[in-house]
Amino acid sequence: MSKGRQTLLACALVPALLLPGCAGPNLQGRDDSPLPAANVSPGGQTPQAGDSQERQPDAKQPDAHPTETGARKPDEGGPQADQPHAGSPTTDQPGTESRQPGETGPASDRPGSAAADTQELAVYRGPVEHIFFHPLIAYPTLAFDGDAMDKGYRDWFVTVPEFERIVESLYRNQYILIDIRDLYEERVENGRRHLVKKELRLPKNKKPLIISIDDMNYYDYMRKNGNVHKLVLDGDGNVAAYSRTPEGNESIAYNNEIVPILDAFVRAHPDFSFRGAKGMIALTGYEGVLGYRTQDAASPHYESEKREALKVIARLKETGWSFASHGYGHRDAQRISYNSLVEDTLRWKREVEPLTGPTPVYVYPYGSRVETNSDKYAFLVRSGFAVLCGVGPAPYLKYTGEAVMMDRRHIDGIALEQQGERLAHMFDSRQVIDAERYRTAAKP
Ligand SMILES: [Zn+2]
Repeated sequence: MSKGRQTLLACALVPALLLPGCAGPNLQGRDDSPLPAANVSPGGQTPQAGDSQERQPDAKQPDAHPTETGARKPDEGGPQADQPHAGSPTTDQPGTESRQPGETGPASDRPGSAAADTQELAVYRGPVEHIFFHPLIAYPTLAFDGDAMDKGYRDWFVTVPEFERIVESLYRNQYILIDIRDLYEERVENGRRHLVKKELRLPKNKKPLIISIDDMNYYDYMRKNGNVHKLVLDGDGNVAAYSRTPEGNESIAYNNEIVPILDAFVRAHPDFSFRGAKGMIALTGYEGVLGYRTQDAASPHYESEKREALKVIARLKETGWSFASHGYGHRDAQRISYNSLVEDTLRWKREVEPLTGPTPVYVYPYGSRVETNSDKYAFLVRSGFAVLCGVGPAPYLKYTGEAVMMDRRHIDGIALEQQGERLAHMFDSRQVIDAERYRTAAKP
C-alpha cells in the first residue's frame, strides 16, 4: 500500500477493515478526486487550435486542495495487488467490442420528448456545466461522528439540505438538465465513424447542466457512515431510498437521496429538465450496484439481488436516468497497466453491463484520465466508450473525432468550503453549507 498522498489521506481516515484494498475504491470519494496534477490540463493534453472545446480561462488552475497541489509521483498510485475481485485474465479479447448502432447517438427513447417539443428552442453555444456528487449524507450523525472517516465525509460528500439548496439555486439560475448523449452525434464519412459535436437547442434562456452521481453502489463503508443502503421501488413502481436509521429502524424515503429528490423536483418543476433528462449514475461493480450485491454469482442471494437491481435500473431509465461505467474495481486508469485496465473494463462489461445495459460513457475513477494518444485511450474508445469524463475546475468539452472528453466539477465539502467563487454562477456556497457538517469539528 504505497499510494502516496492521495491514498494516505484516504487511508489515514479509513479503518483498514473498511478498505477494500486501501488503494481501491475507498473513501473513496477521493476517488473522483479533482485534477490529479496541477500541470495536467483537463483532458490531459494541450488544446490545439481549432479544437472544438470550451474552456474557461482558469481551467489550468489546480483546485485548491491538499491532494492537488502537485503532480503525482510515478509510484503514487501503484498497482493494487489487493484489489477486490482481481479476476483471472479473461478470454475476451480487447478490441473486439464494437459500438452498437445508435448506442452513441441521440437517445430517442427518452421520456418527455413530446412536452419539450412544443417549446421555442434556441441554439446554445456557451459552456456546458457538468457537476457530480457522491451519494448524499442521509444521516449526519453517522457521517460526522468523530470517527476515522469523519473528515472524509466532510470533504467528499454533501448533506441532503446542501443538495436541495444547490438544486433550488441551479433552477433559479436558469439551468436545465440535459442528457450527456445530447452533446454529440455519430457520422460516417468515407466508411469511418466520427463523433461530432451536436448542435444543442434548448428552451430560450436556459443553460445546460449535466448532473452525475459517482459510486452509487452503496459500498459497505457508506452504509456505516450515513449514506442510505440501496435504491428500491415502492408499490407504485417509483424509486425510493431504503436504509436502516441510526436507531435501527427500516426507512423507505424520498427525501434523503439524489434520485428521489431530483425526481420530485422535476415533477414540480418540469422546466428544470430537457426532455425528461435527470442524471447519470456512474457505477463500479466490485460491491454490486445501487446497493444490490451482484458481484458474487455464488451467493445464495445472487439471483434475487440481480432481479431487484434490474427492476430498479429499468425504472431509472424510464424516468430519465442514464448509466456510466466507473470501472469495475475503481482502479486508477492512469496508474494501472494496460492489461489491468483491459481486465477491469471487460469485467465491468461482463458483470455490470448486463444490469445497466451498454453505456457510451466512461467516468474515470479518481478523475484519472489517460492521454488521448495512448493505448489505454484507444482501448476505451474501441470498447465503445464515446464520452470519457475526467474531473476539472471548469467546463471542458473536447471532440477528438473518435470520442468526447468532458470534465466535471466535483461538488462536495471541499468545493463548498474552498471553491465558492468558482461556483458562484450556479449557487452561493455560503448559503448552501449545512452546519451539520461541523457537528464534530471546528469550522475551517
Ligand atoms: Zn468514484
